[in-house]
Amino acid sequence: MDKKEFLYEGKAKRIYATADPSLVVVEYKDDATAFNGEKKGQITNKGMLNNKIASFFFELLAAEGIPSHFVQQLSEREMLVKKLTILKVEVVTRNIAAGSLSKRLGLAEGTPMSRPVLEFYYKDDDLGDPMINESHIYAMEMATPEQIQYISETALRINEILTGYLKEKEIMLIDFKLEFGLYEGSVLLGDEISPDTCRFWDAKTKEKLDKDRFRRDLGGVSEAYEEILKRLTDGVK
Ligand code: ADP
Ligand code: UDP
Repeated sequence: MDKKEFLYEGKAKRIYATADPSLVVVEYKDDATAFNGEKKGQITNKGMLNNKIASFFFELLAAEGIPSHFVQQLSEREMLVKKLTILKVEVVTRNIAAGSLSKRLGLAEGTPMSRPVLEFYYKDDDLGDPMINESHIYAMEMATPEQIQYISETALRINEILTGYLKEKEIMLIDFKLEFGLYEGSVLLGDEISPDTCRFWDAKTKEKLDKDRFRRDLGGVSEAYEEILKRLTDGVK
């Protein structure tokens, strides 16, 4: 499927039309941003690594009965996906306190939650993606209660699938962000699942293997992304 006209450039990806109006090509960039775009940089090979990691996760989820926008990986940096109307809600699932949750609630990073925590954020760069609740979502007509029920159940199911898979690879899934969109009237999982959008810690050493290495200037950023891809795919045909 050939790329046609350029449609949109975000912070980490570019979107292109294809000959089929229901499909778009996502091209993953090496650009990295943090703190709502205040910190900018490049992570060597990130585009290629995230494309491969996200493709792997979408295929794993499909095998477990979770549909997504993913159609196929096209090249090192490109994937073919169903074109979604992305909902303005970002969904974060957390197993262990870190990042903004630690700050907001005064929990030391690494504190396990007794059950998974689900949070919603308003996808709006100008406002810095503020946290919202279901009442805001319905009042602002960002999604319906039925859609949020599907999104919540799917996020928790994805959490179980990924946590279980990653445990075998000695990776802890601390938290992750998902985006959903509308496709032919139904809600479908979209965007990406990668070290840009998840926190992964080495189970033994608790070493961070995700974008926190970039956010916090810890060094070894692309090496961490490479390590995630290696562990995910080691022993997989
Ligand atoms: P951002 O700067 O918003 O973080 P990215 O560069 O990560 O954006 O991604 C580009 C945009 O593509 C995002 O707004 C994301 O919601 C959107 N997107 C992801 N998957 C799809 C899809 N299947 N169809 C249309 N847009 C999508
Ligand atoms: N996250 C993301 N995009 C965002 C905000 C958060 O992918 O715009 C991910 C982040 O990588 C982490 C989880 O969501 O895995 C929770 O992030 P947190 O709220 O702690 O935000 P942070 O303070 O790290 O920006």
